[in-house]
Amino acid sequence: MSKCKGYAAPAAKAPLGPWEFQRREPREHDVVIDIKYCGICHSDIHQTRDEWSEYQEEAIFPMVPGHEIGGVVAAVGSKVTKYKVGDKVGVGCFVDSCRTCPECKQGLEQYCTVGTIWTYNARDKEGAPTYGGYSEKIIVDENYVLRMPENLPLDACAPLLCAGITLYSPLKHWGAGPGKKVAIVGLGGLGHMGVKLAHALGAEVTVLSHSLKKQADGKRLGADHFYATSDPETFTKLAGQFDLIINTVSALVDWKQYLDLLGIDGTMVVVGLPEKDIPIAAFSLTARRRSLAGSQIGGIRETQEMLDFCSKHKIACDIEVVPIQKVNEAYERVLKSDVRYRFVIDMASMK
Ligand code: NAP
Ligand code: ZN
Ligand code: ZN
Repeated sequence: MSKCKGYAAPAAKAPLGPWEFQRREPREHDVVIDIKYCGICHSDIHQTRDEWSEYQEEAIFPMVPGHEIGGVVAAVGSKVTKYKVGDKVGVGCFVDSCRTCPECKQGLEQYCTVGTIWTYNARDKEGAPTYGGYSEKIIVDENYVLRMPENLPLDACAPLLCAGITLYSPLKHWGAGPGKKVAIVGLGGLGHMGVKLAHALGAEVTVLSHSLKKQADGKRLGADHFYATSDPETFTKLAGQFDLIINTVSALVDWKQYLDLLGIDGTMVVVGLPEKDIPIAAFSLTARRRSLAGSQIGGIRETQEMLDFCSKHKIACDIEVVPIQKVNEAYERVLKSDVRYRFVIDMASMK
């Protein structure tokens, strides 16, 4: 075991503060990563506040959040073949899975039927708690490590490991591309990557944001159209228009209103994870043979595909870099939708 400095939430809803804990000794297939940057995902806020208690196992505190990890390889185990010291690498939302179930075999480790081992707030195969990226280093099996784009800055790429893949996977799965009208609901960390990626895939992109405050940004990111959902006319004007809606909103909103914006055979994919159930009307699905679906991050293979796509198209996240000491302030600003468009912690500030 070796000591590792990090920032943790000591209990649900408590502010995060410095905390020292133990990381395992590297095994034969492990990569030791010096963490340079870690994005702040809204899921970190939901988890440290224990807002998903209805839907998952009991939260583990102290909790070191962080699953948008960009770093450099510091050491490798004797059997590691994919990475060497000095490589620019990333770790996303999970660090292991069973590797034998049909989902794992298809590269869908995020849907492992035995249980995906999340980067934090989970237990590894030995039963030890996992701790995330708000820390100086992490030790991960090489099969769960990603290669980061060489041609783009590491800080702006770290959030691709959750925000990027969470939008890329459904956009690809539901065929976003030329001739498809795609709406992205919520222009936050996930939403802004949805706009960039859907635009790069060739779709016609509309942003549905709660006000017009971010309109200029939306257009700059690649949106063709931008509407405020606070204006009731938006819902009459856009009724039946879209092939695909990706809903990234972290709060309770009326899904029926958005389903009514789908055309025949349209699909709304929910990726935002509010803390309570949302009722929907059967009629809004039957009316035009519409589908309501969900999607969770992406597997290792697809995450690497997304990183390579971003490298080719020179797509990274719009970020605001903060020192770790400002993490609680950053959380408050995320909750007020006051982030353009992802906070990234500079881990050098930990020293
Ligand atoms: P974020 O940066 O806070 O963005 C969420 C956006 O939702 C806000 O920017 C805002 O956009 C909109 N919004 C927030 N509150 C709203 C309200 N009361 N009414 C209407 N719109 C509201 O969060 P994020 O990091 O992108 O994460 C979004 C959600 O996705 C979270 O619930 C997170 O846990 C979840 N998530 C899911 C996955 C997955 O695999 N499915 C992965 C990562 C995150 P506007 O200002 O444009 O309205
Ligand atoms: Zn996330
Ligand atoms: Zn599995």
